Amino acid sequence: MIYSEYGKTGNMVSAVGFGGMRFDTKKRTDKENAEIVLHAYKKGINYFDTAPMYCDDKSETIFGLAFEKMSKDRDKFFVATKKMPTEVNAAEEGIDSVKKSLEKLKIDYIDFFHVWCVRTQEQYELAMKKGGLYEGLLKCKEEGLIKHIVISTHLPGNKVKNIVDDGYFEGVLMGINILNFRFRWEGAVAAQKAGLGVVAMNPLAGGLVPGYQKQLAFITEGNETPIEAAIRFLVSAPQINVALVGFTTKEQIDTACRVAENAKPFSEEDIEKIKQKMSENMDVLCTGCGYCESSCPVEIPIPRFMQVYNEKLFCDKSEKDMVNLLNENRQYGILTGTKADPKDCVKCGKCEEVCTQHLNIIERLEEMAEWDILIGNR
Ligand code: SF4
Ligand code: SF4
Repeated sequence: MIYSEYGKTGNMVSAVGFGGMRFDTKKRTDKENAEIVLHAYKKGINYFDTAPMYCDDKSETIFGLAFEKMSKDRDKFFVATKKMPTEVNAAEEGIDSVKKSLEKLKIDYIDFFHVWCVRTQEQYELAMKKGGLYEGLLKCKEEGLIKHIVISTHLPGNKVKNIVDDGYFEGVLMGINILNFRFRWEGAVAAQKAGLGVVAMNPLAGGLVPGYQKQLAFITEGNETPIEAAIRFLVSAPQINVALVGFTTKEQIDTACRVAENAKPFSEEDIEKIKQKMSENMDVLCTGCGYCESSCPVEIPIPRFMQVYNEKLFCDKSEKDMVNLLNENRQYGILTGTKADPKDCVKCGKCEEVCTQHLNIIERLEEMAEWDILIGNR
């Protein structure tokens, strides 16, 4: 495993981090999932990221079971959790959230506490306002309940740079992967230059990398798979300290650790080469992050429609192919039983405001509404 210093904190963090959003809570007990965390720790992973609400609110509890067993080593591993500024009306509510997380995690302090899911400038300002979340976190830091205040954001790279320049945070968590990195790279570079830690989430682009392995063969080297290449990309980039991988099984951990062990740091030239390899379309893919879903007043399942639209961009499909694909998905794919359709879009723009990829969702839905007409059943 490769380790690097998270910003200027003195904490040497593992290049692969454990993202606690993909525990299988249906088939496994909390105890069985905690065993997976312990396996990761044995393999050299020392950065564990969770949040309230992940995995039906069980993620922090699962980590807590593992951390209890790791308690003798408390200074050797790092725990990150979060709170959204939109859920906090007063600094005290931020403090309460930290205390609740500590209780579930069964630890005395949190290493990296994130102002969570900042997608707009307004949300950033909400967190920073007097009596807001940041103020509560500062109090927690004074009391020793948290060590470092950091931010998790889906803003584009230039906006992340502005936050970095404001100087309130010691690290940043961003959705960066081999498919979208050009869109956010400026933020990662600015953060690293300013001495902040940089953690990348969503390394497999919301399932796009595993789902399109054939089309992504060009990102691989030697015998590696596109999944391995995508992980290698993040663990090799000197701008990134930790690539958070959402693990479900021990095998996935073993694969990621093997990739990290063999990865060599990328040079600027390597990064440029990768940029050249990516077609312009790569930046405009839906990653399935789901942040737009609850924003739609007419309940269009936007991520599902956008996932289907991805194929037009990724596989260069014709209109005829897309009409067939849409029809297939409506009958027995991810669009069965949808409550609302592209034609129901009232163009309010709320989804585009929150879209982490800044996609032109309205335009895409208009196109899909046309395809629906061609199917003849809408
Ligand atoms: S623009 Fe359309 S799809 Fe987007 S939130 Fe509004 S109604 Fe829903
Ligand atoms: S449309 Fe945007 S916000 Fe919605 S799932 Fe796709 S990438 Fe995420």
